[in-house]
Amino acid sequence: MQLKPETKIDQDYILEARNIKKYFPIKGGILKKTIGHVKAVDGVSLNILRGETLGVVGESGSGKSTLGRVLLRLMNPTEGQIIFENQDISNFGNRQLRPIRRDMQVVFQDPYASLNSKMSVQELIEEPLLVQTKMSKSERKDKAISLLEKVGLRADARLKYPHEFSGGQRQRISIARALALNPKFVICDEPVSALDVSIQAQVLNLMADLQDEFNLTYLFIAHDLSVVKHISDRVAVMYLGRIAEIAPKKNLYDTPLHPYTRALLSAVPSTDVRNRREKIILKGDLPSPSNPPSGCAFRTRCPHAHDLCAAVRPELLDVGNGHYVACHLYNKPN
Ligand code: SF4
Repeated sequence: MQLKPETKIDQDYILEARNIKKYFPIKGGILKKTIGHVKAVDGVSLNILRGETLGVVGESGSGKSTLGRVLLRLMNPTEGQIIFENQDISNFGNRQLRPIRRDMQVVFQDPYASLNSKMSVQELIEEPLLVQTKMSKSERKDKAISLLEKVGLRADARLKYPHEFSGGQRQRISIARALALNPKFVICDEPVSALDVSIQAQVLNLMADLQDEFNLTYLFIAHDLSVVKHISDRVAVMYLGRIAEIAPKKNLYDTPLHPYTRALLSAVPSTDVRNRREKIILKGDLPSPSNPPSGCAFRTRCPHAHDLCAAVRPELLDVGNGHYVACHLYNKPN
């Protein structure tokens, strides 16, 4: 299903994802034949407005990181279309993707793993410039110094190696590297999850400042609803490879509609004693994406499941004000 493609006339989308699927084959038997598929992403459609931050939240195994990698074309989609800046890049080969790679960057969760420990900070930031530009050595050095200063590090940090920095500083270096090519769109895959809580807010504030300064669009992936709330304009909630609900941040946090979103939000500690939500305990575990439940993927854990939920997969319904929910509770009878 698609999110009101007719609204495109009015909207400046940097990226549109249409019915994206990413299935990983499961091999078995002596002949290693394909005996099934892990449906990591199973029919996701979303549009991202230029300059906004779209938060994507879900439990581990919800498919949010795989979705990010597919949108960046670090993985090929099994099905579906990725439209970036009005170009369908779904089937682009490496040569066609090369100029696109300048505009799309990623910041990963673990700055320990994502930064090569044998390279100095200067080399790390220079690497994309060497591959993608014809900048001279002194221009690259100046660019590295300027980026380090933008992310709150001193110019002499460029002469050091990743192990000489704290986790928060390392993530600042990852951000500087991601910004080296002046990208338009950055996927942030759990960028603060590995950091101490005291450092998380600093890095989130830095990312918000850089977004304004560089006119960036973010897809911000996290499992933590409070982190997503801090930085997002809109939030999509994923469950078992599908979008359960997507809405402007205020609508989603004030009036969550999907039973899964309600359960997730009920677990977020609130300082507002008058509006504390009753905690909803979900029964069971996340089902296997290799064998998702029929109909609504959430039905095995949903307190409101009824017969229709097992028979028919709910489509994302427009309930007004940019709020969409995939749940039969909101289907109006004809
Ligand atoms: Fe629950 Fe049914 Fe709605 Fe799924 S469609 S969330 S099972 S009520």
